[in-house]
Amino acid sequence: MTLSEGYRNNSQIARRVTESWIYNNMFCPRCGCEHIEQFENNKPVADFYCPNCGNQYELKSKNGKFGKKINDGAYDTMIERITGNNNPDFFLMGYSRSEGKVNDIMLVPKHFFVPNIIERRKPLAPTARRSGWVGCNILLDKIPIQGRISIISNGSIENRNSVLRKTQTAQSLKIENVSARGWLMDILHCVNAIDAEEFCLMDMYRFEDILRQKHPDNNNVKPKIRQQLQFLRDKGIIEFLGNGYYSKLK
Ligand SMILES: [Zn+2]
Repeated sequence: MTLSEGYRNNSQIARRVTESWIYNNMFCPRCGCEHIEQFENNKPVADFYCPNCGNQYELKSKNGKFGKKINDGAYDTMIERITGNNNPDFFLMGYSRSEGKVNDIMLVPKHFFVPNIIERRKPLAPTARRSGWVGCNILLDKIPIQGRISIISNGSIENRNSVLRKTQTAQSLKIENVSARGWLMDILHCVNAIDAEEFCLMDMYRFEDILRQKHPDNNNVKPKIRQQLQFLRDKGIIEFLGNGYYSKLK
């Protein structure tokens, strides 16, 4: 047996073990249903679904901890799924093979996926079996914290009600339109990047240049910032204190 065959078998075993762990232990963070069901093998879109609310989940698991980037499938397929609004929520599971233990599970709701968190990888070399194939990385640290919901963190299980609450808050930030969603995620990122609980419009305007680079076709960045802040207020993420001052809500 060659090394690559051995490796593929190992990853298949890991896949089976992690999937059955989710099947046996995981509740639906969207609706609180006690268990979720597994799709039959080779479903192209997702791995699990909730029998109560129908929400779909894809599992990405890794021996060890997830870093800032997650290796994923074909770049074009991923972008197509995001822009077509047919990607599932993601469960990111970090486990320890040697300890046989799940240490981390994080939920990333589907609408936190926008094209600029997907990095295009270099095409595979001409000598590779799938020469020219282009994969992608999910840039985890570019997802606002509101979209990274811990279910298990460093081996300890988060309170289920708190997970459901955070998932509901995340759900309230859902926008169908992918370009509008990109703006919202960027503004949320800026708000999160401000250290203080209270901030003012000028603090937000400091991100104007960065935002303009990300959205070169938009000449009205400042009005856009104000519009998105209103959206975040309507969704209960921030509060307006008046006179261009804002406060983050827990
Ligand atoms: Zn559900």
